[in-house]
Amino acid sequence: MARSVKMLYEKDAPLDALKGKTVAVLGFGSQGHAHAQNLRDSGVKVIVAQREGGANYRLAKEAGFKPVSVEEAVKQADLIIITLPDEIQPEVYNRSIAPNLRKGQTLGFTHGFNIHFKTIVPPKDVNVIMVAPKGPGHLVRSEYEKGGGVPCLVAVHQDATRSAKKIALAWARGIGGARSGVIVTTFKDECETDLFGEQAVLCGGLSALIKAGFETLIEAGYPPEMAYFECCHEMKLITDLIFQGGLDYMRYSISNTAEYGDLTRGPRVITDKSKKEMKKILKEIQTGKFAKEFRKEYESGMENFKKLYEQDRKHPLEVTGKKLRKMMTWLNAKEPPKK
Ligand code: NDP
Ligand code: MG
Repeated sequence: MARSVKMLYEKDAPLDALKGKTVAVLGFGSQGHAHAQNLRDSGVKVIVAQREGGANYRLAKEAGFKPVSVEEAVKQADLIIITLPDEIQPEVYNRSIAPNLRKGQTLGFTHGFNIHFKTIVPPKDVNVIMVAPKGPGHLVRSEYEKGGGVPCLVAVHQDATRSAKKIALAWARGIGGARSGVIVTTFKDECETDLFGEQAVLCGGLSALIKAGFETLIEAGYPPEMAYFECCHEMKLITDLIFQGGLDYMRYSISNTAEYGDLTRGPRVITDKSKKEMKKILKEIQTGKFAKEFRKEYESGMENFKKLYEQDRKHPLEVTGKKLRKMMTWLNAKEPPKK
């Protein structure tokens, strides 16, 4: 049975708990660059830890930060926000964070993975909190700049100072999350629903759906450019309508022909079999099987991960899309920064 939650907004999430405090953001990647800059723009004192040599070091400096080491950042901070990749966090935690932690400090996560699966076990005398934005880091930044924000999940795993929740809500407000809505939850629920969403629907399900549609059209002899517009470019136009008004508003906007096709054909693509597989994927997350598999993949050098990634980079969908996006100058085409 579905449980309901209470939504919190800016009036429920004052910035006070971060006034006069120093926040360290460890890593200046997707989430890191957004948390660091949004908090700074909200008037919070922020320092950034970012190793030298790569694109993110350059970006941190361009944004006006003077990156320091993780050790230094931990020493100076009241709230330490860990925005390093999940698979990297345990070793950085053991090597550089734990030896410098002080009683009463707050450790902040943007995803519950390492705390929930116990690959990081902080001492009892620090707060352990989470603010998990429900959107990619680059949107956490751009929505904030527009005056909005990405909704956030907030959780407290350890409350050593009896102020952990206030600190978490202030952090969520500082990044713009409370402009859209904050849900108070647990590390477990955030972690499990987040992994499920990205695997079955948002990233995994969606990329597989786009690729399968694109392949179906080009295998039937249609031009890849047409297949790209139909199965990828238009995805945003449709999801924008859903974003603003749900399935109902999307269906109001499309033709009756499209709507009839949607209602009768959609369930033939995503079938009971797909839903059964989704339940299996959820079980693998809940039992820790996925976390174990990902850990093993990391420990054996990410060979399979890299192979799958390279395969998709060469997919005709990607080759076609890159060419077409260049021509749509209004679209602000993006590519990951060169290493
Ligand atoms: P990114 O991969 O974008 O950024 C990682 C950062 O960590 C970079 O600054 C990177 O620096 C640094 N880093 C990587 N490896 C090391 C290392 N061995 N030693 C020191 N620094 C290192 O991470 P994300 O922002 O995607 O993820 C961060 C956290 O946010 C994760 O917990 C994730 O689950 C969570 N999250 C992410 C979302 C997203 O939108 N991406 C959404 C919600 C939560 P360098 O450039 O030098 O490699
Ligand atoms: Mg997510």
